[in-house]
Amino acid sequence: MKIAVLPGDGIGPEIVAQASKVLQALSKDGLKIEMEQAPIGGAGYDASGDPLPAATLKLAQDADAVLLGAVGGWQYDTLPRPMRPEQGLLRIRKELNLFANLRPALLYPELADASTLKPEVVSGLDIMIVRELTGDIYFGQPRGIHTLANGEREGYNTMRYSESEIRRIGHVAFGIASKRNRKVCSVDKANVLETTELWRQVMIEIAKDYPDVELSHMYVDNAAMQLVRAPKQFDVIVTGNIFGDILSDEASMLTGSIGMLPSASLDSNNKGMYEPSHGSAPDIAGKNIANPLATILSAAMMLRYTFNDETTAQRIENAVKKVLANGLRTADIFVAGTQKVSCSEMGDAVVAAL
Ligand code: NAD
Repeated sequence: MKIAVLPGDGIGPEIVAQASKVLQALSKDGLKIEMEQAPIGGAGYDASGDPLPAATLKLAQDADAVLLGAVGGWQYDTLPRPMRPEQGLLRIRKELNLFANLRPALLYPELADASTLKPEVVSGLDIMIVRELTGDIYFGQPRGIHTLANGEREGYNTMRYSESEIRRIGHVAFGIASKRNRKVCSVDKANVLETTELWRQVMIEIAKDYPDVELSHMYVDNAAMQLVRAPKQFDVIVTGNIFGDILSDEASMLTGSIGMLPSASLDSNNKGMYEPSHGSAPDIAGKNIANPLATILSAAMMLRYTFNDETTAQRIENAVKKVLANGLRTADIFVAGTQKVSCSEMGDAVVAAL
């Protein structure tokens, strides 16, 4: 298993070090893992003037999977747009053709009090959001800002999805649902947007290939509401790039801390990039207080989706559960009566629990 390790910026190096520690521990147990590091984002810019250095892209292309920390920092905010750290991330996703973004929102019973919603609304929550990542209004052409004949400026973007783009993300969602609770909720705005009218038609066609999976449809505005009203009604949600961007952040907060949430972005051969859902948290970088669990759980997703090793994935997830059950908490999830630990102590505890 060749893994490209891209720590990035801010807390990236601290949290990736913990996930690497977990993978190394598994390596000692006989799992054949090779890891090699390279800079990306601001670190890439600092090293070679490019947020996605050519050598980093090559390493990622040659690897079976990529483990990423996070990118971004205030010191890069004034760079020309193509040089900014976020561009490195957008480009690597595009270059690796990572069209399927998987973001689980899972609430650990021990952390029910960390959610802003009532425990009875969120306890037992286990949703998988499958977001299309390389199409939609974020990439559609034409786009831009131009000046109209009357001298007024106008901004425009184009929402577009081809049938094949919808079909491939649909199959990912149905495939995942068939291994979970067999329910897919497709989120669109088919009452207003033709692009998503096609989205709904294609989802209905795909559903015929999965007779065991129940398909439902929901308009995005209602989905936003239902996620905070009764989130446990969902199993797998599949949606386009912009709706998924917003809904997955909303869902992440149901679980209390963004520091707990992993993510996977897959291509059509299940090669993937695995990263926590949060950013580089410059406000706490270098203090050894970040929560590394989202990154460690991303490594578990890597074993599940790229290396097809469900047993080891669960072993990591169970180690995380054990550490939480033992009362260990980083600052972001700390409550009275638990034991506050640093980022590296949390990593050590997960390794010990393995
Ligand atoms: P952020 O996710 O970095 O931080 C938001 C808040 O959550 C901060 O208070 C931070 O301290 C906290 N937080 C985040 N991760 C945490 C963790 N593991 N443990 C404890 N607390 C944690 O979002 P932001 O502040 O909007 O953005 C900061 C930078 O990150 C920006 O440069 C932004 O562009 C970048 N960013 C990168 C990614 C990515 O790499 N995928 C995603 C989002 C934002």
